[in-house]
Amino acid sequence: MTSLPLVFDSPRPGKPPVHLADLDEPGRRAAVGALGLPGFRADQLSRHYFGRFETDPEQMSDLPAALRDQVRATVLPQLLTEVRTLETDSGTTRKTLWRLHDGALVESVLMRYPDRITVCVSSQAGCGMACPFCATGQGGLTRNLSAAEIVDQVVAAARVSRDRFGGRLSNVVFMGMGEPLANYPRVSTALHRLTDPAPAGLGLSQRALTVSTVGVVPAIGKLAAEGLNVTLAVSLHAPDDELRDNLVPVNTRWKVAEVLAAADAYAARTGRRYSIEYAMIRDVNDHGWRADLLGDLLAPRRAHVNLIPLNPTPGSQWDASPKPVEREFVRRLEARGVPVTVRDTRGREIDGACGQLAAAG
Ligand code: SAH
Repeated sequence: MTSLPLVFDSPRPGKPPVHLADLDEPGRRAAVGALGLPGFRADQLSRHYFGRFETDPEQMSDLPAALRDQVRATVLPQLLTEVRTLETDSGTTRKTLWRLHDGALVESVLMRYPDRITVCVSSQAGCGMACPFCATGQGGLTRNLSAAEIVDQVVAAARVSRDRFGGRLSNVVFMGMGEPLANYPRVSTALHRLTDPAPAGLGLSQRALTVSTVGVVPAIGKLAAEGLNVTLAVSLHAPDDELRDNLVPVNTRWKVAEVLAAADAYAARTGRRYSIEYAMIRDVNDHGWRADLLGDLLAPRRAHVNLIPLNPTPGSQWDASPKPVEREFVRRLEARGVPVTVRDTRGREIDGACGQLAAAG
């Protein structure tokens, strides 16, 4: 197992161009005001972007042609360039690789289910959390994404949902590349943009957003104080510090008990159950006694366990747990009254499943 250093600070602060989606409404009016335009233009651009998922000023017929270049240069720069999209599961799973303004690469995955459409977005290019079983974690951190670079992945997904699936994007999960809570200010701004009612934002329901974290304890506290009732998911992967120190290296900073206490405080504040993510890794964390320990830890809490069959990453010696072992793990958790689901492995064939996003180019 290679052990990489934990990286919390973005090594390349590299400033992506400012975009409408980085700004709140007064900020947007100020930005169009700086172009000598009246305030209503800000609302008009917001309606195009958040209401119609239109990112290209050229397509905005009620915007005078003479203004379009200026608008593109200042408030609606193109942030994401599609490099390629791969489809699987009969077209209901689509993974897109995006190039950012500085050449950094990120991926997002759109999944259509019978009752919902979910996009899995990246919050950083790469990741500094160094989890040894995760493809992104093994590549290190390139940089933080801006709020608008995150929001724009969702807007692109909303457009595809409408145009190709004939439906409405309903859910957003921060489970793509990166550690969202290591990029807190940008992720928080993005959460506001996603949930602000249109035309200020996309108007998604707060509970339909899930922020997944390795357990950056101070940032879980900040999220609780924000007053956004988004769903929290904690990537636990081991109930004991000894193993978790290796599987989720941030555990050397904040221990299992501290992470669970922070999640409990979050649940108390929002009234929402949180999920515990647990990748089932053969002979590493799938023992019966670990299921019992996890069950005992979680039984008194407002937590739900999401077991993820490990998606083996290239070059790793680790494999998913055999199904009978997985079933026994589920049985032991349920015996303690802990709700459990087993995550589907959508997008596996296109390397779009959990932990496989590596953006090799
Ligand atoms: N940094 C955040 C979001 C990243 S990925 C976090 O760690 O929570 C979302 C989930 O996929 C996390 O629970 C992560 O641990 C899990 N994951 C990563 N690599 C995986 C793999 N190879 N197989 C299964 N799950 C994996």
